[in-house]
Amino acid sequence: MQVPRFVVDTMLGRLAHWLRAMGYDTLDLGPADDDRLLRLSLAEDRILLTRDGKLARLAGPRGCLIRADRVEHQLEETVGKLALAVGDGDWLSRCLECNARLEPREKETVRQAVPERVFGAQTEFMGCPGCGKIYWLGSHADRILARLAGLLGGERKRSTPCRS
Ligand SMILES: [Zn+2]
Repeated sequence: MQVPRFVVDTMLGRLAHWLRAMGYDTLDLGPADDDRLLRLSLAEDRILLTRDGKLARLAGPRGCLIRADRVEHQLEETVGKLALAVGDGDWLSRCLECNARLEPREKETVRQAVPERVFGAQTEFMGCPGCGKIYWLGSHADRILARLAGLLGGERKRSTPCRS
């Protein structure tokens, strides 16, 4: 099965971070009008996650209405509605900020980019070719993943219809 890709509406920017932490290709256009979101969803075959029922309907089979208010619950809702396979995703493979795929970085090359205490303690680093951000175990992304694991319990959820 093809791994789903996403685009979020402007209300769901934080949800985009969490989906990226799970490894999903997730675009966040910032403030964008509905037409642009719909065109992108169709052109790139991306599921459109939105808080707007009308927009979800317009997106047809690619529309997914998210009702929850808190980002943790939005993530649970997304995972449940789309039956995302929790636990076998490519966790921590994407930049949380810009969605680019992370690449391994030689330790010596990140000396200037990370706090001294981190540089001393860590041996493995990942870097973002898009925005230059450096990640390591114990960084913000890693803490998000720990929370994700707790939230989602590692089990596969049953799928429920997207527009329910
Ligand atoms: Zn980045």
